[in-house]
Amino acid sequence: MRRPFIAGNWKMHLDGASISAFCAALRDGASDREDVTVGVFPPFVYLAQVVDALAGTGIVVGAQTCHPEPKGAFTGEVAAVQVKDAGASHVLVGHSERRHVFGETDEDVRARLDAALACGLDVILCVGETIEERQADRTGEVVATQLDAGTKGLDPETLANRITIAYEPVWAIGTGLTATPDQAQEVHTMIRSRLAGAFGSDIADRVIIQYGGSVKPANVAELMACPDVDGALVGGASLEPGSFASLIEFESQENPR
Ligand code: PEP
Repeated sequence: MRRPFIAGNWKMHLDGASISAFCAALRDGASDREDVTVGVFPPFVYLAQVVDALAGTGIVVGAQTCHPEPKGAFTGEVAAVQVKDAGASHVLVGHSERRHVFGETDEDVRARLDAALACGLDVILCVGETIEERQADRTGEVVATQLDAGTKGLDPETLANRITIAYEPVWAIGTGLTATPDQAQEVHTMIRSRLAGAFGSDIADRVIIQYGGSVKPANVAELMACPDVDGALVGGASLEPGSFASLIEFESQENPR
């Protein structure tokens, strides 16, 4: 049984006052649903504030990236151990904006993932193809390469318990274009089969696979109804408490997940 995981990636949005109001709203109700894991990923400077504000709610708080080195002359960067020290429990690695705007390679993503695991953070590993790659029929190959690079050689229990995979087609992020449920399910099935090939189906069946890319209250239920869609990683629609609450309250549908 996989527990749905709905996470908001706040990117470089919101400020201290709006985050404080957002956390108060989360405390007041958006987290009432006990069968769903809820997470928020604020900018680094607000991490400790959000950790404090949400203490005791069970809502996961994570960083949007981390640097793999534990310390050093890396001006502007934040180490995984510092994310942990700020009280966060999770970190996103390999988000498409990190890969495509900041040029992170699969090796960079893996180094961040390893550093995060080593200091006790759980990880959301993002993978996904660009529109050019999809149009060239390369979705499977691109996602498999990113997935293999991010997971190869991991301890199977670590994969099942501490890594969430987020399938985020780059063409759907922040564009208003959403993968159809069939498109999402097709790639999620491929991801789970590939993990089954490498780690065995018992492990693969336990891995949470989120979909991300213009998820909003109007489409979350149909995506969550797909058997291999176990959650959502959400940008734009996670920036306002009412909208985020609606995502968490997605209609539960019969799903063999
Ligand atoms: C994201 O940033 O991970 C994302 C999916 O953004 P949006 O929901 O805005 O497409």
